[in-house]
Amino acid sequence: MIAVGTAACPVCDSPVSLAADLTESEIIRCPDCGSELEVRSMEPAELVEAPVEEEDWGQ
Ligand SMILES: [Zn+2]
Repeated sequence: MIAVGTAACPVCDSPVSLAADLTESEIIRCPDCGSELEVRSMEPAELVEAPVEEEDWGQ
């Protein structure tokens, strides 16, 4: 993965590196506080705290 930049974690304010292949609405995890973060947008990079839902990604 190629990191194209960082965005601040909305929970702990640490920089979170963003991979080039991330897409909007993808969920990543903050390496610092472990919070799940949703990619709100890539340009500019913006992260929001992911809504707490059951982890059911089966579709
Ligand atoms: Zn964090």
